[in-house]
Amino acid sequence: MTEIQSSGEPIKASEIDPKFKYELTRMHGGEKLLRCFQCGTCTSDCPVARFSNDYRPRTIIRMAQLGLKKRVLSSNTLWLCAACFTCTDRCPQGIEVASVIRILRNLAAEKGIVPQVFKDQSTNILNSGYAYKIPELRIKKREIQGLPPLPKSNPKNIRRALKGINFIEKKEKEEEQREQ
Ligand code: SF4
Ligand code: SF4
Repeated sequence: MTEIQSSGEPIKASEIDPKFKYELTRMHGGEKLLRCFQCGTCTSDCPVARFSNDYRPRTIIRMAQLGLKKRVLSSNTLWLCAACFTCTDRCPQGIEVASVIRILRNLAAEKGIVPQVFKDQSTNILNSGYAYKIPELRIKKREIQGLPPLPKSNPKNIRRALKGINFIEKKEKEEEQREQ
């Protein structure tokens, strides 16, 4: 896995990919990326940025504009976005900030750059239909307290839905490589 980088490191000319921003503007949701004039509205209104010293959607947009492909795709902050779309609603330039972040996450995921916690969650979803593996003890406690059983999930349908995007194949290959 590519090493997670910090966005605060000095920029080297060698890490700039001049085509990256055009690649992003051709993707659904990334079309208006180049309009960003760094006003900071997205960051000031972002509920996650309010509680983080590192998470700045404005910085993510700037890194994308500058062509810092490797850096932005391996940034750990990329995964902090809660996809609430406040930034998209408030951007005076009409940039779909949340969609740009979604695109960047997808590109990162294609390269296998996904924090372990999300990899674990996806494994749980594929195996049980739940993002979190519910302990047996918790299930028994529900029974004792007279709570209804948890709704039945359908991992088969989840796998079927994800097949078309090669998600499972990529994930299983990665797991195989890790075990070798
Ligand atoms: S609100 Fe829009 S224009 Fe302002 S910094 Fe964020 S993305 Fe750029
Ligand atoms: S979508 Fe993400 S970046 Fe935008 S305001 Fe919500 S948490 Fe912040």
